Amino acid sequence: MSVAAVLTAAGSGSRLGHVLPKALVPVRGEPLVVHAARRLLDARDGRGALVDALVVTAPADHLDAFVAALAPLDAGPGSGRVRVVVGGATRQASVAAGLAALGAGDASSDDTSSDDTSSADTSSDDTSSDDTVVLVHDAARPFVPPELVARVVAAVEAGHDAVVPGLPVTDTVKRVGPETTGAAPVVGTVERAELRAVQTPQGFRLGLLRRAHDEAARHAHDESLAATDDAGLVERLGATVVVVPGDERAAKITTARDLRVAELLGDA
Ligand code: C5P
Repeated sequence: MSVAAVLTAAGSGSRLGHVLPKALVPVRGEPLVVHAARRLLDARDGRGALVDALVVTAPADHLDAFVAALAPLDAGPGSGRVRVVVGGATRQASVAAGLAALGAGDASSDDTSSDDTSSADTSSDDTSSDDTVVLVHDAARPFVPPELVARVVAAVEAGHDAVVPGLPVTDTVKRVGPETTGAAPVVGTVERAELRAVQTPQGFRLGLLRRAHDEAARHAHDESLAATDDAGLVERLGATVVVVPGDERAAKITTARDLRVAELLGDA
């Protein structure tokens, strides 16, 4: 099976409070998106490098900066795997733009319409797409270990059409009602053993993920309705999603504090 990856990096990251888009913010001397892309490209199995094609979604007004930041990763042996395209208004729209840029066929498809992402080509071709695994990963998780990437791909290749990495939840989680005067009433306590906090990369048969995005396309441009997670779209189709063990090193950077923690720990 060939493996393609969409790396979402088109968000502004306003919760980080930085002038740069989050994916260009440096940590340990390199932008988040460079760390994340390198770890996807470094993932290997017994046959060699796993990821054949990587599409990075970037904010339209910073496209050149992303291309320049990623160019060194795509030089030398195995080059030509990385493309940068304009993302969308929501994460869901950015993933759809990335899928469109992958072309209708497999990961090695020679599609050059890299910057024409205004309308996601959502035409599904399940026959040719079935032999392709697609990973969707967030640049906001820069220190994902390549072994985790390989674990997700292996699970799809083993026959699971939709795979997410997840970690057990250590906090006790309460369901609450609407907040009044600064306090919210507890409606119930969720059984913690049943919960997993899911991460990326999430892995899918390409045809299935295309179908899931097709079905949800009408919500893609509305932040209040768009999905924050690709597996959620696949669940809506009624398909089975499985969880494999995640990894703390794939932690998400959202706040300035997260960034400081990442600067201290890196991928330790
Ligand atoms: O905002 P948040 O951190 O949840 O975004 C998750 C990922 O989705 C980030 O890597 C971000 O760059 C990406 N994203 C995107 N296009 C958007 C919004 C977010 O690619 N419009």
